[in-house]
Amino acid sequence: MFDLNEEQQMILETVRKIAEKEIAPRAAELDEHGHFPKHTLKVFSENGILNPLLPADFGGVEQSFLTFAMILEEIGRVCASSALLLIAQADGTLPILHGGSQQLKDKYLNRLGGDSQALTALAATEPFAGSDILSMRTRAVRHGETFVLNGRKCFITNGSVADFFVAYAYTDPEKKARGISAFVVEKGFKGLAYGKNENKMGMRGSINSELIFEDMEVPAENLIGEQGEGFANLMTTLGMSRLFCAAQAVGIAQGALDHAVAYARERVQFRKPIAALAPIQFMVADMAAAIESSRLLTYTAAELFDRDRKQEARVKAALAKFLASDTAMKVTTDAVQIMGGYGYMKDFPVERMMRDAKLTQIYTGTNQIMRLVAGRSILKV
Ligand SMILES: Cc1cc2nc3c(=O)[nH]c(=O)nc-3n(C[C@H](O)[C@H](O)[C@H](O)COP(=O)(O)OP(=O)(O)OC[C@H]3O[C@@H](n4cnc5c(N)ncnc54)[C@H](O)[C@@H]3O)c2cc1C
Repeated sequence: MFDLNEEQQMILETVRKIAEKEIAPRAAELDEHGHFPKHTLKVFSENGILNPLLPADFGGVEQSFLTFAMILEEIGRVCASSALLLIAQADGTLPILHGGSQQLKDKYLNRLGGDSQALTALAATEPFAGSDILSMRTRAVRHGETFVLNGRKCFITNGSVADFFVAYAYTDPEKKARGISAFVVEKGFKGLAYGKNENKMGMRGSINSELIFEDMEVPAENLIGEQGEGFANLMTTLGMSRLFCAAQAVGIAQGALDHAVAYARERVQFRKPIAALAPIQFMVADMAAAIESSRLLTYTAAELFDRDRKQEARVKAALAKFLASDTAMKVTTDAVQIMGGYGYMKDFPVERMMRDAKLTQIYTGTNQIMRLVAGRSILKV
């Protein structure tokens, strides 16, 4: 099951080394100061893993969804913000890859190849349109060879640092889902302004920005696919991104369990390590079982994407997303509990992991929405 070839094993071996040597030692500092992970970006690009899914035609390493999930897990185990950097890259790449013309792919995806440090993002959410994305207010109106966009996006991961990003806007609001279009927007386009970068509870080593479009001019050639294809394009990307979030959550949970186990074996109370206490053993067993089942479901969804069984993959990814993120929240909370007062202090990483885990229940579709998506699909309603 989930056999890896030699290349995949080599990549994961490299990722493990990077995670331990380069990412883990900097995770607390990124969290403390809310910095963009510049060093992580450099290390990822130098090792060719900033865009693992990018096809070889554009200078990428063209890895499978399964390998990408495993990469996210390894990085998420030590620093969830660094895993989020990889997720944001994929989110900004997939809409172009799956919906863009060859010309558009050549223009933008080539910029991500090799050891490029170019950053990308996906901008859908708005102040009045979160789960209910169809209520977005951003509008795009065509004037000759240019679309003029007006609106506001919020919470966008990598928003203010992205070299280019994918933005969604209504071109035909009456048509609802069939009236949304997707565009590639470049840093520096006339009419693009940046609002605040958010001050967050967790995943603080990542930038989340407000983007303001004031008569922003986007060349008509930057339309992804045809007018009105934006919503379908967004759903395709989010369907995959849920898998990435699940993998990141599995990593966070595993990282917290590892710390709790190491601590429980060392910490002596009542003249013996707390690892010898049955309540601690029960907690650890429950944590391990939840992580293993989340991991298996996540890998299953990844393999379904790899086999192009899209419909099944989307449902499994939604299941994996809420199972893994709920697991990450529970496991990180229990890890803090096992470590007692020390777990609550910033001297150990579990309190950061607990804050990071919370986001995985919210973004790329909240867990309530994931349950709706999966439940409706299973019930065929
Ligand atoms: C740190 C961070 C990074 C993000 N990055 C990006 C990004 O890069 N790009 C991007 O476009 N967006 C991004 N988002 C936005 C994210 O996807 C949304 O926050 C999320 O989809 C929820 O939308 P909302 O915050 O408006 O909550 P709301 O939709 O207002 O939901 C509030 C509550 O109501 C519940 N709810 C809403 N509708 C229903 C329903 N029909 N049934 C049951 N319950 C419901 C929700 O589950 C939630 O509990 C990011 C968000 C955060 C916090």
